[in-house]
Amino acid sequence: MGLVKTVLFSDFDGTITEQETFSLLMKEFAPEASRQIVPRLLSGETTLRDGVPAILETIPSARFPEMVNRMRSMALRPGFPEFLDLLERHSIPLVVLSGSLVELVMARLAPYASKISRVVAAHAETDGTFLRIYSETAGGSELVHKAAVMREYGGVLKIAIGDSVTDLTMAREADLVFARSILAERMKTENRPFVPYGTFFDISNYLEIFLKGTRNRG
Ligand SMILES: [Mg+2]
Repeated sequence: MGLVKTVLFSDFDGTITEQETFSLLMKEFAPEASRQIVPRLLSGETTLRDGVPAILETIPSARFPEMVNRMRSMALRPGFPEFLDLLERHSIPLVVLSGSLVELVMARLAPYASKISRVVAAHAETDGTFLRIYSETAGGSELVHKAAVMREYGGVLKIAIGDSVTDLTMAREADLVFARSILAERMKTENRPFVPYGTFFDISNYLEIFLKGTRNRG
C-alpha cells in the first residue's frame, strides 16, 4: 500500500492566528506609514513587495523586541495543537508560508517548533537605527512568493490553508484548499473547489477522512 507523499502549506496571519496580527502590529508600531501606505496597498497602487518594507522600515530597531513580545500573546485559531498532532501521525510536513516576518511568526509558534517543517517569511535586520527587511523568496509583486515555494516541492500532493487574497496563488498551486474569509469568497467567484473552515478542528476532521482516501489510492 503506497503512501501518497503529502505536504501541507499554511498561511499564518488570520489562518493560524485568529486575527491579522501583522496588520495590527504595523498599525501600532508604524501608525503614520501605515496610514499613508495601507490605502495604496489596498488600491493596488503599491505592491506588497514594496509597501510592506516601506512601512516596517520606519520602525526603530529598538522597538523590535516589543513587537516580538506582543506576538507571544496573540490568540491561535482553536484546534491548532491537535491539528499538528494529526499531521505528525500521518507524517505530513507543515510548511508555514507568511508575508510577515520569520521573527514574529516564530515568536508565536516557538512552542510548536519541533512540529513545523519550515517557516518561510521575510526577515528583519535590527543592526541599524531602523528595521531593514529582507526576503529570499520575493517574486513578482509579492514579498514572499508563496506559490514559488510550493513549486519547490515538485509533484507531491499539496494541501493549502489560507484566509486572504495573498493566499490565492497558493490555492491555485494546491490539490486541496481550505479557505475562510476573503479567500473563500474569491474561490467562490473563481469557481474553484475549496473546503470552508472555522477552526483547525474542522480541518482535522476533514483531513482524517480525506487521508484515508489518498492512502488507498497509492
Ligand atoms: Mg492571512
